[in-house]
Amino acid sequence: MDDATLRDRVRELMARAKSDLAEMVRFRSVHDPQQFPPEECDGMVDWLLTAFRELGVDDVAAHVTSDGSKAVTGQIPGPEGAPTVLLYFHHDVQPPLGDDEWDSPVWELTERDGRWFGRGAADCKGNIAVHLTALRALAGDLGVTVKIIGEGSEEQGTGGLEHFAVENPDLLRADAILIADSGNFAVGRPSLTTTLRGIANIDVSVETLESAMHSGMFGGAAPDALAALISMLATLRDEHGNTTITGLEADAEWPGVSYPPEQFRSDATVLDGVELVGSGSVSDMVWARPAATVLGIDCPPVVGSSAAVQPRARARINLRVPPGMDPTYAQDALIEHLKAVTPWNARVSFEREAVGSPFVGSTSGPAYEALTDALATAYGSEVLIQGQGGSIPLCNVLQSTFPDAEIMLFGVEEPQCLIHAPNESVDPTEIERIALAEALFLRDYATRTAQAQKSDATTGEV
Ligand SMILES: [Zn+2]
Repeated sequence: MDDATLRDRVRELMARAKSDLAEMVRFRSVHDPQQFPPEECDGMVDWLLTAFRELGVDDVAAHVTSDGSKAVTGQIPGPEGAPTVLLYFHHDVQPPLGDDEWDSPVWELTERDGRWFGRGAADCKGNIAVHLTALRALAGDLGVTVKIIGEGSEEQGTGGLEHFAVENPDLLRADAILIADSGNFAVGRPSLTTTLRGIANIDVSVETLESAMHSGMFGGAAPDALAALISMLATLRDEHGNTTITGLEADAEWPGVSYPPEQFRSDATVLDGVELVGSGSVSDMVWARPAATVLGIDCPPVVGSSAAVQPRARARINLRVPPGMDPTYAQDALIEHLKAVTPWNARVSFEREAVGSPFVGSTSGPAYEALTDALATAYGSEVLIQGQGGSIPLCNVLQSTFPDAEIMLFGVEEPQCLIHAPNESVDPTEIERIALAEALFLRDYATRTAQAQKSDATTGEV
């Protein structure tokens, strides 16, 4: 099927994509049995089983995973010896997070100003619509084996699929893994997300007195645990706002797309007149460098506080770890740094939370080349390489389970989608172009692999 035919078919399928998405959005598939009836997630899974079965996906099945969520698997076998592509999505969604703040019903796909609104419209049901549309457009004309994997608790972070993937590698094994749960830098600007920062959190506790003491009688000479903690936390940044942890490099530069400061200000809802922090570019600061954030401090709240010097105080610190940095090393460095700056011989102790490694996806290879070409063709413009400041633990699990697979993140989620917030929406032109890109990829990837093998063989002979 040539490019133009595929393009036309995808366009014709957009009405179906919209009705599919409307049906999917109707399921309140939040994997939180305390808040939402489990029948909603089950209904969503049944819908998927029917939809993929109609598309000729064999053995499509739902599996209960360790956290009670359901994973959806299946495959369309390709020609003998053809490479395998795994299409990832998740079918759970975030809760509405403020029903009253929505301008249209949360669970009803509503068109407004050319966008489609509803919880999950982009994250990640819009991406499910992409997979369905791409497979429908190709109508079985596939040069590859296609596997699907749907996760049922991605938004909860309870790890059901992470365990399932390790226990059932044959259902997921692939040469190329397309994680459709990311998106473009901006509408109309095709992008691949190639890195994710890792995480290394700690709790730090400071103790100085046996009990709270009157600040009038003792304040001035008594060692104040809260003052000690504040002074320690203050050393985690320099005067420009750069994270400064002894032993951690914080001057890496992001080689891909530059995140314009004006756009970042608006995405991050920075107030007028308030400055951004850090001496690097925005891309450097959020994708290539470590960042320490104090998530919480245990100390008396203002209301109800009394005139007392505090005997103890505690803080939780979230450390984002950029690609190339070991998270355990980073956690150690943070602890050593805080020990070294603890004043007055105060007693300090630490609790480590679980660490997560940064992730680096494919940036070369036949799948990477096929996908960047497909995105460039679908959009008629150059592909941007972006990072993501947060982490997706599943990506690391897939990478360690399938070390030879090329893993790539893309999708329909761009900043205007407001994923996880009220008034989530998707731009339908993004669904159309990402679906076309995925269809082009599925059509061309086998040829790319064959070419790569041929050139490897040639190089081998030399
Ligand atoms: Zn998502």
